[in-house]
Amino acid sequence: MGKSRLSVCAGDGMVSPKIPLTMHSKLTYLLSFVFAGAVSLAAADKEPPVVTPGTEGRPPSDAIVLFDGKDLSAWKSDSGAAAGWKVEHGYAEMVKGNILTREEFGAIQLHIEWASPAKVQGDGQGRGNSGVYFQGRYEIQVLDSYQNRTYFNGQAGAFYGHQPPLVNASRKPGEWQSYDIVFHPPTSAEGKTIPGSFTVFHNGVLVQDHTPVSGEATTSAQFSGVTPKGPLMLQDHGTPVRYRNIWVRKLD
Ligand code: MG
Repeated sequence: MGKSRLSVCAGDGMVSPKIPLTMHSKLTYLLSFVFAGAVSLAAADKEPPVVTPGTEGRPPSDAIVLFDGKDLSAWKSDSGAAAGWKVEHGYAEMVKGNILTREEFGAIQLHIEWASPAKVQGDGQGRGNSGVYFQGRYEIQVLDSYQNRTYFNGQAGAFYGHQPPLVNASRKPGEWQSYDIVFHPPTSAEGKTIPGSFTVFHNGVLVQDHTPVSGEATTSAQFSGVTPKGPLMLQDHGTPVRYRNIWVRKLD
């Protein structure tokens, strides 16, 4: 678009080097500014919707609650059957298999809380491993990374396989931790992929700062390619990681 505008300007100059701007073209030029100003004023004049905020991670009034501690009815298993994870004491615990939201999402703000097992077993990737997959494709790693070293783009808060967290903000095993994540999916236009982005806070600490998400950045065998909407998925990686208080706000 920028290119064609430039060529129009060049064309104008080429065809009328000796002809000064007519009154008509001057008026058109001025009106274009007035119109652009009116459009931006109209946007600035639109009152933002009122949202009642939650407290201590609880959902704001416009959130879609995906798990409130009572049941996993918003989720399903890989096969489409009911999600088979254990629900007790206000949390869901991984038993077997990934679970996916029944609803599919594009750009979202996500709040989710998780806890790796209090009893430490294994090390590296074997310790409290799970993951939050956006559109079933792009994983923000869940791992017990408290005094537990592994490859950096595989530790807690990493965009798995792509981008390590800026810092390690992990709490101790068994303690509740939070992710607040803004995800914009990549998009596809005219055969090209325009990267999306991840911004992630781990326990309130920034760990991914507008990290690019390209169409190839999948860590899932089940899902691939660029899509406008896809499910949120929580991973079974063999350890009984717990989740609670999961909600999203749609951003598109
Ligand atoms: Mg994982």
